[in-house]
Amino acid sequence: MRIGVPKEIKNHEYRVGLTPPSVSELVRAGHEVIVETHAGDGIDFEDQDYIDAGARIAPDAKSVFADAEMIVKVKEPQPSEIAMLEPRHLLFTYLHLAADRAQTEGLLKSGATCIAYETVTSDSRNLPLLKPMSEVAGRMSVQVGAHYLEKEQGGRGVLLGGVPGVAPARVAILGGGVAGINAAQMATGLRADVTIYDINNDRLAELDLHFGSQIKTAYASKPAIEAALSRAHLVIGAVLIPGAAAPKLVTRDMLKLMKRGSVLVDIAIDQGGCFETSRATTHDDPVYEIDGVTHYCVANMPGAVARTSAFALNNATLPFVLKLANKGAEKAMRDDRHLANGLNVSEGKIRHSAVAEAFDMA
Ligand code: NAD
Repeated sequence: MRIGVPKEIKNHEYRVGLTPPSVSELVRAGHEVIVETHAGDGIDFEDQDYIDAGARIAPDAKSVFADAEMIVKVKEPQPSEIAMLEPRHLLFTYLHLAADRAQTEGLLKSGATCIAYETVTSDSRNLPLLKPMSEVAGRMSVQVGAHYLEKEQGGRGVLLGGVPGVAPARVAILGGGVAGINAAQMATGLRADVTIYDINNDRLAELDLHFGSQIKTAYASKPAIEAALSRAHLVIGAVLIPGAAAPKLVTRDMLKLMKRGSVLVDIAIDQGGCFETSRATTHDDPVYEIDGVTHYCVANMPGAVARTSAFALNNATLPFVLKLANKGAEKAMRDDRHLANGLNVSEGKIRHSAVAEAFDMA
């Protein structure tokens, strides 16, 4: 199959659909890969790296779309990209259609087959193509939290791990899923005093077994969260109710329980956030302060570590890209129901029930 990789054009997006090692795997499997010139510049993948991996470099996105049968991207297609999609194209990327009517209408009109990373499923009940980004965001939350706890950043002036003779900072993690467990790994690595709160008792038991005496766990009741807020220096919001807005676990009123200069990192901001006072921020202007508490609410945290994120995303997407290229979309989806769950749009119709419901077309 001919696989095309255009340069991402969304503002501040430096990741790329296929890394040179992924291109090399696809070429080895007998496929042709066409990469737009400078597609990997932002994360130091040069055209020559792609040529060495066996790709052909195209001068612009138009030639990529004209030549390729499958388009592999990171972000949802922008209007100029949608305009180049045709019924013969297979598009494999993040789409997040339920919140984006204009894009959905554009994809329907294009007639292309559109498979969304975020709705591909797995046997272990998680979403395997979202998981790597939750891992990145979870790990990053602790390093940004540590940064904003510094005095010069408006923080309380505490070091997460403390030092001999001075107690470590207390970190409360709300939600012990993929992002939460990765946050806990970083925070315990820095020797912070870590407690994870969740409402899933099985999950709490798994975390207890996994971390042993390195962390404490607690059921996420309102009184437990209130007690956590009054003690913690860093609170990380990492809850998720699949397909729904994040529950508001910390109200405006509860903020006054917190210490001045403490930090909230709301990873769940892409689902509306789990603190009532959260509003989405960007890497250009990531924090704001309310009642002496620093809020970090960047909706696209992995973008800041685009090189790591591109490799992590490719590790997860490559097996599916290979299946699609080897078998063609129809057979690949027939053989793999988890990949079939990724189908959002084809032949001008919405194929995913949650997307159809969002637009009242079910
Ligand atoms: P996950 O499903 O693996 O974990 C979510 C956890 O939250 C589960 O253990 C669940 O039991 C728990 N939970 C649900 N309701 C709760 C409640 N009321 N109180 C306490 N715990 C509760 O999800 P994940 O992959 O870790 O993702 C977490 C969030 O991070 C999601 O909103 C995801 O979209 C977001 N995310 C954000 C970024 C970013 O850049 N900001 C990047 C990746 C993921």
